[in-house]
Amino acid sequence: MSITLPDDPARSAVLAGKPVLWLNPQRRPDGVHSSALPIRPVQVELAEANWQRLAPLLTASFPELAATGGRIRSDLIEAVELRDALGYGAPEFGRIFVKADNALPVAGSIKARGGVYEVFMFAESLARQNGLLPDGDIMALRSDAARALFARHTIAVGSTGNLGLSVGIAARALGFRAVVHMSSDAKAWKVERLTKLGVEVVQHQADYTTAVEEARAGAEADPTIYFVDDERSELLFFGYSAAAQELAGQLAKAGITVNADHPLFVYLPCGIGGAPGGAAYGIKAIFGDAAHCFFVEPVQSPCAMVQMMSGRDELVSVYDVGLTNQTEADGMAVARMSAFVAEVMKPMLAGVFTVADDDLFRWLWQAQTTQDIRLEPSATAGIAGPGFLVESAAGQRYQAAEGLAGKMNDATHIVWTTGGAFVPEAQFEEFMAKGAALTA
Ligand SMILES: *Cc1c(COP(=O)(O)O)cnc(C)c1O
Repeated sequence: MSITLPDDPARSAVLAGKPVLWLNPQRRPDGVHSSALPIRPVQVELAEANWQRLAPLLTASFPELAATGGRIRSDLIEAVELRDALGYGAPEFGRIFVKADNALPVAGSIKARGGVYEVFMFAESLARQNGLLPDGDIMALRSDAARALFARHTIAVGSTGNLGLSVGIAARALGFRAVVHMSSDAKAWKVERLTKLGVEVVQHQADYTTAVEEARAGAEADPTIYFVDDERSELLFFGYSAAAQELAGQLAKAGITVNADHPLFVYLPCGIGGAPGGAAYGIKAIFGDAAHCFFVEPVQSPCAMVQMMSGRDELVSVYDVGLTNQTEADGMAVARMSAFVAEVMKPMLAGVFTVADDDLFRWLWQAQTTQDIRLEPSATAGIAGPGFLVESAAGQRYQAAEGLAGKMNDATHIVWTTGGAFVPEAQFEEFMAKGAALTA
């Protein structure tokens, strides 16, 4: 299929594979409450309550969570030295923070919020159906009977890497069999780590979308396989959404006001859209129109930008507009976004911007050398956000359209850094060497 994108100020740049900020013309005031959407903001609160109920079980399964009462949380770090290194020192950049999901416990990436949630929620419902949760005590999921039940079930997932790690780790912790279908761009160290955990890895010589399709087909044929469907799962989405409550608490604790005169900008790296979509939905549910959420994608894999710019309901891939889906940012090497997330984001996402791979390595090096923040290439992409919003022509159009022009000094920017802690040392050193060479 080959499609023509409608006229748009960002069209020629995205087609040429150049970094650009696209503004979503379909965003609406109070879009998160649009009655046309298939989901409701109250579901974010329900997800938060579910996480709270699972907390004792999570602590028992992952002792590193004892310090946070069984919650999978990350720090909110003010970018001080980093902002200067990036050239974001001027007052009109407001305050800049890093939401450090790169260091999330259990899975070392934002996928811990989605994958662990879906696996544990599935385990709870399977145990309940089998009469193993008589008095509702969540700790019964660690009983011998529950483990024996889980061992007769398989949890399968398609992944470019990090979702497989998260789902595989969670599934094995409860005693499930786990199968991860990896796309051709999955990194060797992720395959090795999963294999060591006792997860079966199926490596496909195809891209992410194809790996997911094959995994889904295999699961449909076998009732003992539960498939974590990254293209459709509401459980993943709402697992991610609970991050918003955590962020809101951290902002309040830091004394940061968010309202019409003190805008909040959030920059979220996007692959298929589930993680950034869930987080953005939760943030919009809490902060409404005071929050401005943007996705970021590699210049050759801008599936969300192409999808939303197309204005179509049917799915469009980056191949359909002549792009390659080639990127070092493996967590974002996705050619076609989730239809569910595209629909939900339509009335509320502020826009999408793209970044070049070389910049990812520069930012990786800068984050590590200035503030000891260890990132994988995908996780750095949001760093482009403050520059686009403050300095680009599209950013200034956005400020004008949203009535923000005089308020940028009072803005707060959140760069969501999505992964990195689990990158092996040798691989990280390679990333650093590449970043250093590009920065010099
Ligand atoms: C998965 C991932 C993303 C994007 O999440 P999606 O749900 O695929 O949109 C971004 N960064 C990292 C490091 C990831 O692992």
